[in-house]
Amino acid sequence: MKIDVVTVFPEYLQPLDLSLIGRARERGMLDLNVHDLRRWTHDVHHSVDGAPAGGGAGMVMKPQPWGECFDELIPGEAKPRLLVTSPAGRPFTQAMAHELAAEPWLMFACGRYEGIDQRVVDYAAERMEVTEVSIGDYVLFGGEVAVLAIIEAVTRLVPGVLGNAASLDDESHNAGVLEAPAYTRPAEWRGHEIPPVLLSGDHGKVDRWRREQALLRTAQARPDLLERLDPGSLDKRDRLL
Ligand code: SAM
Repeated sequence: MKIDVVTVFPEYLQPLDLSLIGRARERGMLDLNVHDLRRWTHDVHHSVDGAPAGGGAGMVMKPQPWGECFDELIPGEAKPRLLVTSPAGRPFTQAMAHELAAEPWLMFACGRYEGIDQRVVDYAAERMEVTEVSIGDYVLFGGEVAVLAIIEAVTRLVPGVLGNAASLDDESHNAGVLEAPAYTRPAEWRGHEIPPVLLSGDHGKVDRWRREQALLRTAQARPDLLERLDPGSLDKRDRLL
């Protein structure tokens, strides 16, 4: 998978050198590049923002550097899927992470200040598929943290990036419910014990316990997920809960 990130703070993306994403990059599974938007400015101050049209507080990212950035990074027939970070965007979910993991090329635009001039999105949409994306109903200083979150969620779904792909199967949000709580040794810690069934060696019982805990946890923490659950994903024993 090819990933380009365009930002005025490339240093913010340094965690992408670490851990499993860093290793996937070293192994050539991810061709990930971070670009400084100021490279496409021409004034001595490398300015990327201007006063908002119509007045008001703050500054807005001007379109010119973005246009030249697209011209240079997307020279040919192949087009990326462009993700423009915005608190006004489509909510990012695990379903969208799966959707993006199937794309061969993603490009991320990190907004700052009061956001990016809307014409950048409108113009880019004439050249490629564009999605404005939000990581939650709150406002960050910039899109960099949002991009880190999205890239982590997406790349761990790319085959081969995660060491043990089986660990994806029962994860929270993959099957519509939250995952059951996890434990490791010692069996007893500060007066708290691992639920005995997990030490029983009976895989059938462990699976059933995990399923019940997953449903219980979801009912307690995220009843909205249960309401949206496909009834076909429940089995008879679930219905007895
Ligand atoms: N004035 C904008 C608004 O009210 O919609 C907020 C701008 S915010 C201070 C600056 C940038 O941070 C945005 O352009 C976007 O790139 C990023 N950002 C902030 N919150 C975000 C969120 N929840 N999800 C994704 N990106 C976000």
